[in-house]
Parts: sequence; C-alpha cells; structure tokens
Amino acid sequence: MKTIVLEKPGNFIRTETEPPEGPGLGEAEVAVLRVGICGTDLHAFRGRQPFFSYPRILGHELGVEVVAVGSDVEAVKVGDRCAVEPYLNCGICIACRQGKTNCCEQLQVLGVHLDGGMRERILVPAHKLHPSDSLALEQLALVETLGIGAHAVDRAKPKKGESVLVIGAGPIGLSVIQFAQVAGAHIVLLELNKGRMEFARSHFDIAHGMENLDRVEDDLRQAFSGDLPTAVFDATGNVNSMNSAFQYVANGGRLTLVGLVQDHVTLYDPEFHRRELTLLATRNSQSKDFGRIIALMESGVVDTQPWITHEAGFEDLIESFPTWLEPDRGVVKAMMVF
Ligand SMILES: [Zn+2]
Ligand SMILES: [Zn+2]
Repeated sequence: MKTIVLEKPGNFIRTETEPPEGPGLGEAEVAVLRVGICGTDLHAFRGRQPFFSYPRILGHELGVEVVAVGSDVEAVKVGDRCAVEPYLNCGICIACRQGKTNCCEQLQVLGVHLDGGMRERILVPAHKLHPSDSLALEQLALVETLGIGAHAVDRAKPKKGESVLVIGAGPIGLSVIQFAQVAGAHIVLLELNKGRMEFARSHFDIAHGMENLDRVEDDLRQAFSGDLPTAVFDATGNVNSMNSAFQYVANGGRLTLVGLVQDHVTLYDPEFHRRELTLLATRNSQSKDFGRIIALMESGVVDTQPWITHEAGFEDLIESFPTWLEPDRGVVKAMMVF
C-alpha cells in the first residue's frame, strides 16, 4: 500500500509497505483519508523534534474510515468515519490510574513515537476511535489539534467573563482561543505576525489584539480596566515569550504553558511568590475531550473549515511539504488528502 516515510531529516520518500494483517481483539483497521500536518511534523522534518527516531511514518492528526473490526469490537463498525486519538497509553502507570492518560509515563503517540497515518491503512485500538455521522473528514482530522486547546483551557478553567491573555495564534493558539471563547472568557491576543493576528481577529471574538512587545503590561491594563489578566496561556513555544509571560499574569492568577520548548524556562522567584502565581503545563488531551469537541463541531459552535489553507495529495505531498515551512505562505493548517 502507498506510504510516505520520513527517512531522515529533510528526506521523505514515497514507497510501498505491507498492509496490516487485519484487526485483532479490541482493534480496528481504518483507511486513512486525511492527515493534518502540524508543528510536530515540521520539527521532525527539520530534525529538531526531541526524542525522535528515523525512519518514521508521520501523521497523528487523522480523519479515517473503519474498514474492519476485531470480533469483540462494538464501539465502532465498518463504514464509520472517525477522529483518531493518537495517544496510546499503558493503562497501569500512576498517571493512567488517575485518568491522566494524556501524560502516561509510557505514552506512545502515533506518528511520533510509533509509525502513524501517512499510509493507506493502519490498525488502531478501537477505543481510540471517535466517530461522527456528520462531520467532514477534514474536520475529523482537526479534532486532535483542537484537543490541545480544549485540554489547555481545561487545565486553567477560565470562568465566564474572566480576563484571558493568549500569546501566539498558530493552530495551537487558535485552539486555545477557541475553547477560551467557548468558556465565555474576555480574550486579548498577543501575536507579532500580522497575518496570524488578522486570521484570529476575523474568526474569533478577540477583545483586543497586541502586535508588538513595547508596552504589553500597559496595553493589558488598558484592555482589562486597569488589571492584568488572571489567566495567561503561552502558545508560542518560544523561550523568551514564555519567560516574559510570568510578568503579564495578575496577582493570584495562573499561567499555562501550552507550547513546548527544548530549553529551561526561568522565573524570578520573588515576583512569582509576590503574585502567588499558579504555573500549569498541559500536554495532549484525553478521550473525553474528543467526544466533547466532536459534539461542538457537529452543533456548529466550533468551525475549523477556514483553518485549512493548504492541501496536497499522496503524489505531491513531498514537494509541497517544505513550502509549508515558509512563513510568507500564510499556512494556518495544511492537510494531506489520501
Ligand atoms: Zn499535531
Ligand atoms: Zn500509563
């Protein structure tokens, strides 16, 4: 079957691999029809993804159709179209025992630690499939991305009307904005890229946008009637931004680091204590997020169709992929169509 393999940094190949032998107990075989491309894939391509080994079949944001199920599987049936929760957890570690399957000690993510979806068919545990009767395949492939924002917002739990600062409006920042908006927060966005700011403003309820770093604290106080925001989300993955974010949080507030950086994030302890800040990390998402997101998409509350700005098929993915790294291409979300 048709497969795209990332052989080593910067080098994809189109090839043929053996199809799966058919689903075992608890498994489903699915046809992969859409593959969303994200920062993780771009980092893997550039050779900058930590703890990543090559060769690897990428693809963890998947819109699939079930083609066969194991004899004991009842949750999904042949023909179901599904989003895939690509986080394979062990079920026995302390995190799993507490229901925190998203940060399992043995976590293996399809397309990252294990081979993923850039091939015609894969086997997945049936309970990691989240079906929808009505969503388009592109929408299903975006559920994983949205899960990052849904879980991040769930970590900080902003209340209705709460003042929230989101830093960074790439796809992850957008997914944070989306669920902060669902929570009814009053959202200010800090994003230095004009195109991204424009995109966020045209699709979300942004109360105030900041496009430079000159007077961030003053600007924030102006936007929030004299106060700093009580919840700040950093979705940049940029260490300078993450270090600065501490000073944007109101006394008693919380800072959630959504983006990940291969570096030390530092804080000045007297300020951290003076403000009695809460610092939160967030990683992946959980099964319950997938169901909730699909319901929100089905009811039209969440609409990610405008996010998909670029597409490529099996035949032209390898040629298109490097161009998606160029900032002036204006890529919000690129998708592979099988
Ligand atoms: Zn992703
Ligand atoms: Zn575990």
